[in-house]
Amino acid sequence: MSRLTIDKGLCILCGKCVEACPFDALELKDQVVVNENCRLCGICVKVCPVSALVIERGLSKTVDFDSYKDILVFAEQRGGRLSSVVLELIGKGRELADKLHQKLAVVIPGTNTESLVEKIKQYPVDTIYVYDHPELAYYRAETYTAVLEDLVKEVKPGILLVGATQVGRSLAPRLATRLKTGLTADCTILDVKPNGDLIQTRPAFGGNVMAQIITPKHRPQMATVRPKVMAPSALNTTYPTTVVLQEVKPTMLSSGISFLSIEPKPQETAITEAEVIIAVGRGLKKADDLILIESLAKELGGMVAVTRPLVEAGWCSYTKQIGLSGRTVRPKLIIACGISGAIQFVAGMSSSDVIFAINKDPDAPIFGVAHYGLIGDFYEILPALVNELKSSANL
Ligand SMILES: Cc1cc2nc3c(=O)[nH]c(=O)nc-3n(C[C@H](O)[C@H](O)[C@H](O)COP(=O)(O)OP(=O)(O)OC[C@H]3O[C@@H](n4cnc5c(N)ncnc54)[C@H](O)[C@@H]3O)c2cc1C
Repeated sequence: MSRLTIDKGLCILCGKCVEACPFDALELKDQVVVNENCRLCGICVKVCPVSALVIERGLSKTVDFDSYKDILVFAEQRGGRLSSVVLELIGKGRELADKLHQKLAVVIPGTNTESLVEKIKQYPVDTIYVYDHPELAYYRAETYTAVLEDLVKEVKPGILLVGATQVGRSLAPRLATRLKTGLTADCTILDVKPNGDLIQTRPAFGGNVMAQIITPKHRPQMATVRPKVMAPSALNTTYPTTVVLQEVKPTMLSSGISFLSIEPKPQETAITEAEVIIAVGRGLKKADDLILIESLAKELGGMVAVTRPLVEAGWCSYTKQIGLSGRTVRPKLIIACGISGAIQFVAGMSSSDVIFAINKDPDAPIFGVAHYGLIGDFYEILPALVNELKSSANL
């Protein structure tokens, strides 16, 4: 933890630091006072003619740990629709809260939030904090950060969980900087020690090791979690939930971004939502052969997905890539054709209910994660399978 200190003995109250501060973090009273806007940018230190200001770096454990408890989940919504990762965070948050004998809260920034509140009330959440204002209808980094900062400073959660979505990846680092705390991105496993330390596990070094990270000196402990990595919470419609309407202060709404219009992108079903996936890898000889994979996907009502080499070859959109640098999927069935099973691919699909692998190489690592395996050439197996499915459909 770092902080700005002012030596009153040296300070000549010239006000140069106050004028120079771009964040209005300094006030000239009978002495210079630092407020919570300070970002430790150091401009005031540079302009002070008598070197009265100093940034003290690396102060340890200035946080009163006992005042931070409970788990808080950020409820991301877009146009009033709750992001699916929120239910996954509620599931994990409930588990962690129960282990620590603490409470689970959810914060919703948005507008016309009634249906969102009703939806979240169907899950085992202790408290829902609502910031409802038309200016919060859509995510803007400044406004949402201000809202979350306000709540964290008020309720002091020990743990704050955010989805590793586009919004979450923008919000969480900004908020962590504002709160001067640590953030672990893209966690795949979360657990807690009895003392409340969050054990945050995530792949590191290209997925070759699983790093365990803790935040021992700061609070709240912040983590983002990719969608589909964790199981969604079970419904609990009788769980007693308190709803707290929070005041939206005008200062929270200041933003350099204004919405001129919202243009929805053409809707494409994401592979993360598919219940059946036919995935193909470098065993595919040419882009045109994807038709073989598509024909099986069509018979099974599934979607086609690929490994990274096929995206790099320009044969398929990056939105279809499964893995560490692609999407994480959790379908009921995934058929992996001509895929070796590199750790970076497996990281994105190992939680699938049923994994079926087809590979020519009996030693391919994919057989280590597959529930069922066929050693053979998928160019021969898939047409036979498609014919079989077609003829059984005609029976
Ligand atoms: C930082 C980092 C991030 C990465 N992120 C990702 C990621 O998100 N997703 C990803 O997929 N990769 C990712 N990779 C790449 C990853 O390491 C592998 O290189 C990649 O997954 C291999 O893809 P593949 O299985 O299609 O190809 P290969 O490893 O070449 O395997 C091809 C397989 O096809 C089999 N085969 C060939 N022909 C046939 C046939 N006719 N019938 C049956 N089997 C056949 C072969 O026996 C072989 O096992 C990443 C790498 C790094 C370093």
